[in-house]
Amino acid sequence: MNKIYLNEYILSYNKVQNLICYLENNFRDKFKFDDVVCKTSFDYQINSYKIGTGRKHIIIFGGTHGCEIITVYFVLEFILTLLLNDKLYNEYANKYTFHFIPILNPEGYTISTSNLLANTSKLSIEELEKFATNYLQCYEQDDYLALQGKKLDKRYKKAIQASIENIPDIDIQRSVKKILKSCKLDESVLPIWSANGLGIDLNSNSIHKFKEIKKLRKLQKVGKLRYNDIPVTKPSPLSYPGSCTFDKRVPENVGLYKYIKKIYSLKDTSEDEKLTSIFSYHSTGGEIYGFCDLAYANKKQIEIQSAGMLEYEKYTGYSKINEKLKYGVMDFYRVALDNVCSLTIELSKVNANPIGFLSNIDNFKEEILNNKKALLKTIDKVSNIL
Ligand SMILES: [Zn+2]
Repeated sequence: MNKIYLNEYILSYNKVQNLICYLENNFRDKFKFDDVVCKTSFDYQINSYKIGTGRKHIIIFGGTHGCEIITVYFVLEFILTLLLNDKLYNEYANKYTFHFIPILNPEGYTISTSNLLANTSKLSIEELEKFATNYLQCYEQDDYLALQGKKLDKRYKKAIQASIENIPDIDIQRSVKKILKSCKLDESVLPIWSANGLGIDLNSNSIHKFKEIKKLRKLQKVGKLRYNDIPVTKPSPLSYPGSCTFDKRVPENVGLYKYIKKIYSLKDTSEDEKLTSIFSYHSTGGEIYGFCDLAYANKKQIEIQSAGMLEYEKYTGYSKINEKLKYGVMDFYRVALDNVCSLTIELSKVNANPIGFLSNIDNFKEEILNNKKALLKTIDKVSNIL
């Protein structure tokens, strides 16, 4: 448990698939294909996998935003931790069934990581730390200048060399080219690509308060801080919500909805079979989002969310955020599902997606260990109060 198993920090989409394939073949009794969540617009199949046979079900997913690569790392590291620790496996696999979606947004992940890897694949660990430190400093300076209302050339764009040709998929290349042209942006934003291949942001394409988020984006026009030259009212690298909830261009969200609903419905078929918690991993900030929209929540939901947040905070020191406008994808599940704790965790106290967290790898590993512990403790805590 107090060990890091995955010692490669930036994995290409193919490498993630190969690792999963390896686990399916070598841990046949423990790690299994679960379901097809959906096929994306560019024909990437999103699968879920499961560990355990318990009656309490847990859903864990990462990679909603393409450039939040630490989240994919974390989900894979957590899977490895369960599979490679007999004691831990025996303790948890009878009680729980874990359902994993390692990458909810494979298109965005590919756009970001292919460009990143073109810069970092040959670096030693020390060089990688140096490269990430420079990126983090650029990024922080960009934020500082943007806070003063300046729309200058961004330094973060020069810290990673990007090109559409790094993306190993001609159809996504074409789509990205079109989006960049319409947004008057160049290729330097590819490493921070958060949306899917059609330029829709999965998290902004919310079920909850969609109209409000559309209105907000209209007011904002562009992204925050260092992203103040990136449009958010049309397909773009980040924050564009699409034209309606379950926009046809976001099959990832429809798939996720059906998938969660299916596992939630298990309670109707068997008395003690039930979904008890959902963890959606994002980055960055070291934050926990779990407060319900009070206009929709019942007392029990508020109590469960609060218990989950408190427990997660205990082991990570992450801050609980009670944001004013609750609009993200998970805000719907926090109020729509009874007796389920639905948390969004912003991994990494260090800013600067996609690689700020690699500026100090020892600290990053420590944070991952704390999150693994927090996740297991929170699952137990929530299941005990339900
Ligand atoms: Zn995110």
